[in-house]
Amino acid sequence: MIFGNPDLSMLNQIPQGDRSQGINPYRLIFEPYQNISLYDPVEIDKRRLREEIQRKLHEYFLKAAGCEQVQNCDPLKLSKIQTNTTMGYRTEFQAIGNMISDNQSKFYIVNGKYASVVDSDPSLAKKIAQETDSIIHDFFKRSSSSFPTKLYIVSEEIGVNKPHSSLEVGVAKYSKESDALGTQQSILGEYVDKNGKRIKSLENMDTLSHEIGHAILENLNPSARRDVHEAFADTVTFLVQASRKESIQKIKQQNIDLTKSNFISQISEGSQYYRELQQHPLYGEPGKIKEYIRDLAGVYKYDEKETNQYKRSLSLSSTIYSSWAEYIKYLQSQGKSTESSIYQANEVFKNLLVKTAENKVELDIPTFANIFLKNINDPKLREIFIKNAKLRNIPIR
Ligand SMILES: [Zn+2]
Repeated sequence: MIFGNPDLSMLNQIPQGDRSQGINPYRLIFEPYQNISLYDPVEIDKRRLREEIQRKLHEYFLKAAGCEQVQNCDPLKLSKIQTNTTMGYRTEFQAIGNMISDNQSKFYIVNGKYASVVDSDPSLAKKIAQETDSIIHDFFKRSSSSFPTKLYIVSEEIGVNKPHSSLEVGVAKYSKESDALGTQQSILGEYVDKNGKRIKSLENMDTLSHEIGHAILENLNPSARRDVHEAFADTVTFLVQASRKESIQKIKQQNIDLTKSNFISQISEGSQYYRELQQHPLYGEPGKIKEYIRDLAGVYKYDEKETNQYKRSLSLSSTIYSSWAEYIKYLQSQGKSTESSIYQANEVFKNLLVKTAENKVELDIPTFANIFLKNINDPKLREIFIKNAKLRNIPIR
């Protein structure tokens, strides 16, 4: 979905309009708050935001209509411009319009190191900003490149009214857009159900990690295929989950066998969005609730003819997951504790992911798997990975 520019439908009648010069409305929300101190929630001044957006849109529409000077402007065009920018805010991207006209909620901005977040709940915004910063840092510290720009995260009112895919993790999306001021990246997440109830997707940390996974890969390698993107995002998700102290405690206390389906292999456990989705007649079976959306502890065959990118991605993500789980078992058999085995496997796999993604080649599933294998140092892990990839029909060269 392209949402980089303000509402341009009126500009179809203005032939000299230069669409590439648009300004993404998100910049207009976030830029006045760029200098606030880290993780300090600041209430959005809606009146100021509205004025700022209208002023910039007005300037932009005038320029696109070829009349920098108002007196030279065709009165018909001018009246259209006035209507579009002053008589009620209109944009093809509804989130900002909704935010401004929402008299019920206040909105807050939290400025993080790598992410700026806007939400009606300042503590959730802070949590999202800190989580995003820590995940991006954890992966980019392994890379020679650095994360180029801030991610703009809007977890409120993305203006969708139905889930777009029953296989995506929540209704959340990562997006990279260019506008007149350069490139910016955003993560959006909210689902509005048929009763108009808003369900935040990004409060589910699996959903957030998955979208951050897309952002990490896109910045390490912009030419990865869509199925590799989904596999990479799910791999980041399970590694983030497996790196939490509480997760390691739970694995230890409940003596969880990681090679079988469990809370780490299940993506998006306990999401409110997913529970609601199950009740949607188009996407689920009302009355039946499954707690997760994909399970990486399975054997999914690589199938070039599969058109669903989430299904396609599973051959790779489940190869990586099963290799990770079996490697932990192997480390334990060598006398290591559960904690240090999980810790070591997490480190090895995060390094492998970054090193593989950094290859500036077009990454499809077989290419990714083969470069990943080439980067493995431990012969035992090589053996485990080859076995798992072959089991899933991924061609290993
Ligand atoms: Zn995705």
